[in-house]
Amino acid sequence: QVPLKPGRSLMDWIRLTKSGKDLTGLKGRLIEVTEDELAKHNKKEDCWICIRGFVYNVTPYMEYHPGGEDELMKAAGTDGTDLFDQVHRWVNYESMLKECLVGRMAVKPVAAAKEISTQSEEKKQLNGMLPEKKVLDASAKDLTPSYDWFQTDSSITIVIYTKQKDMNAELVIVDCQEKRLRGEIIVDDHSYLVEVDLDHAVQEDMTINIAEKVGKVEIILRKKNNIHWKMLGQPLESHNTFIRRTDRGLFYRKCKLVSKTEVTHDTKLLCLVLPKSTHLHIPTGQHVYLKQIIAGTEVVKPYTPVLPFLPLDFKQPSHYDGAHIYLMIKIYSCGLFTRAIDCLQIGDYISVSNPEGNFKKSQVQTSEDVFLLAAGTGFTPMVKLLNFTLTEVSCLRRVKLIFFNKTEDDILWRSQLEQLALKDERFEVQFILSQPTKGWLGKQGKISSSLLSDFVKRSRKDSKVLICICGPTPFTEQGVQYLKDLGYSQEEIHAFTA
Ligand code: FAD
Ligand code: NAD
Repeated sequence: QVPLKPGRSLMDWIRLTKSGKDLTGLKGRLIEVTEDELAKHNKKEDCWICIRGFVYNVTPYMEYHPGGEDELMKAAGTDGTDLFDQVHRWVNYESMLKECLVGRMAVKPVAAAKEISTQSEEKKQLNGMLPEKKVLDASAKDLTPSYDWFQTDSSITIVIYTKQKDMNAELVIVDCQEKRLRGEIIVDDHSYLVEVDLDHAVQEDMTINIAEKVGKVEIILRKKNNIHWKMLGQPLESHNTFIRRTDRGLFYRKCKLVSKTEVTHDTKLLCLVLPKSTHLHIPTGQHVYLKQIIAGTEVVKPYTPVLPFLPLDFKQPSHYDGAHIYLMIKIYSCGLFTRAIDCLQIGDYISVSNPEGNFKKSQVQTSEDVFLLAAGTGFTPMVKLLNFTLTEVSCLRRVKLIFFNKTEDDILWRSQLEQLALKDERFEVQFILSQPTKGWLGKQGKISSSLLSDFVKRSRKDSKVLICICGPTPFTEQGVQYLKDLGYSQEEIHAFTA
C-alpha cells in the first residue's frame, strides 16, 4: 500500500462514481475493443486495462488505487487478469470500476480446439477470452473426483468420490440456498464442484458424512415433499468441473450476527452463525472475505476467524460446533469497512466467503520451537494456530508469542494470554509496546534485529523451528528480513498476508 493523497480514499472514489461524471470519456457508450486499440491506451493520462474480457479506463482511478499508480501502470494497455489475480483477485472490480467500463474485448476468430491446448496459442489469447483453464494434464485427470446420486422416499443423497485418502471436514464446503446446491471439494490446490439447480425443494438442514480414509463424501438432503425425483436437477455453469482453486470465483453466503462483545476500546469480537444449509469449517491459518454494500458499491475485506476464547486445556482437540464463526475486528474511526461493521445490529446479515490462505498445518506439525510474532490485529491468525500447536503438535517443546502493540490498552486478550502462560509451561508471552505510557515496566520498541535476536532462539542447536509473523505490511516485511539476516531460512518463516 502507498499513502494516498487527501480526498482519495475508497469512500471518495465511491462518491465520484456516483456523481454522474463521465469516467470513460465515451459518454456512457460501450464499445468493442481490439487488442491494437487496447495497446494504444498505455499512458497514465490515458490508461485502459482488460480484466476477464472487459476493458476499463482506469485513468480516473489512478490516484485512488491503494497499491499506487505504478502498480496499475504495469497492466496499462494490456490484459491485466493474471496480475490482478496474483495481487487481489478478491477485490470486486466489477462493482468498483463499473463506471469506468469501456466495453468488451472484440471476440477473435475461434482457434481450432487442438490449437487452444498448445502453450504458445494460449499465450497469444487474451486471458479473458479463453473458454476457461479447464484443460488438465493426464495425471490430474486420474485424480478428478466424480459424483453419483440416489434417493429414498424422504431423502436425496449425493455421493462424491474424491479419490483422496485423507479427506476431512475442512476440505468439504457445501451450501444449499433455495433450490441451488453447491458442493465444493478441495484437493490440494484444485477444486471439484457439484453445482445444480435441484429438481425440487429440500428442507433447510442437511447432513454431511465424510469417510476420511476412502475419501467418500455424502451430502444428504431432506425432501420437502415425498415425491419421486426424475433427475437431481439442472447442472449450473461450473457443475462437475475440476479446476485450480484460484480460477474459481469467491462464493459467499449470508451469515447472521448473533453477538458483539468488546475486546478492547476499539476492537470487537463478533459471532456470526452460518445458515443451517451450509457446511464450512475454516482451517487454521486461513482467512475469509466479508462483503458489504457501502453507498451502493460492494466492498470486500479479509478477516481471520478466531476462537470464542483461548482454551486453557489442550488435552483434547477443542470441540468445534461447526455453526459459528468468531471474528476479532478493530474498528478504525476513519475506516470505511469497519465503521460499517460497527453499525451492524444483532440479527443483521453479512456475506462471508469461502476460506483462503496459503498456511498449511503440516508446516507446524513437526516443529519443536514455534515463535509467533504478532502486531495489533495480526494476532488473529495466531489464535487458532496457538490452540492447534499446543493441542496437536506432539514434538512441541515451546511456543512463544511476541506481541507488539502501541499501548497497554491495545493488547488483545492480555489476561487470557497471561493465564495460559501460567497454566501451560510450554507457552510464553512477551508484550512489546511502541507508545507506552510512563508506568510501563515491560519491553518497549518496535520490531528490530536486536530485539529478535534476544527473543527468537532455538531451544537446542538443531531444533526444528517455525516462525509465524503477521501485522501491518511494513512490520511483516521488516520482520522477515531481520529473521533472514539472523540466519533463519525461508522454510522456517511463514508470513501471513492477503
Ligand atoms: P480503511 O478504510 O482501509 O482504513 C483503515 C485505516 O488506515 C484508516 O485510518 C485509514 O485512514 C488508513 N489507511 C488505509 N489505507 C491507507 C493508505 N493507502 N494510505 C494511508 N492511510 C491508509 N483486521 C482485523 O481487525 N481483524 C482481522 O482478523 C483481520 N484479518 C485480516 C486478514 C488479512 C489476510 C488481511 C490482509 C487483513 C486483515 N485485517 C484484519 C485487516 C482488514 O482487512 C482491513 O484492512 C481493516 O479492517 C481496515 O479496513 P477499513 O476499510 O475499516 O479501513
Ligand atoms: P497498530 O497500528 O496498532 O500497530 C501495532 C504494532 O505494529 C505497533 O505497536 C508497532 O509495533 C507495529 N507497527 C505498526 N506500524 C509499523 C511500521 N510501519 N513498521 C514497523 N512496525 C510497525 O496495528 P493495527 O492497527 O492493529 O493493524 C494490524 C495490521 O495487521 C493491519 O494492517 C492488518 O491489515 C494486518 N493484519 C493482517 C493479517 C493477515 O495478513 N493475515 C491478519 C490480521 C491483521
